[in-house]
Amino acid sequence: MSRLKNRFEKIAVDQEICMHCGACVGTCPENAMFLHDLTVSADENCNGCGYCVRVCPIGAIERVKRGAAQ
Ligand code: SF4
Ligand code: SF4
Repeated sequence: MSRLKNRFEKIAVDQEICMHCGACVGTCPENAMFLHDLTVSADENCNGCGYCVRVCPIGAIERVKRGAAQ
């Protein structure tokens, strides 16, 4: 089954304020988010849906243009 991806957006995590609560990891429908060594990141399976952005209690995640520097 082909995966419909948002070609224009992905997410970026502000590692300076992230509390490592894991809420974003648990809510991602694509299982694209990971918490390793106190760093949260999303892999290429991120479709830009923004669910993680909405669930983060401190606003540490934002949608960014694909190809933009993080
Ligand atoms: S934007 Fe959606 S697919 Fe991408 S990491 Fe967040 S919840 Fe997962
Ligand atoms: S929900 Fe926000 S604070 Fe919690 S691990 Fe994800 S980015 Fe960090």
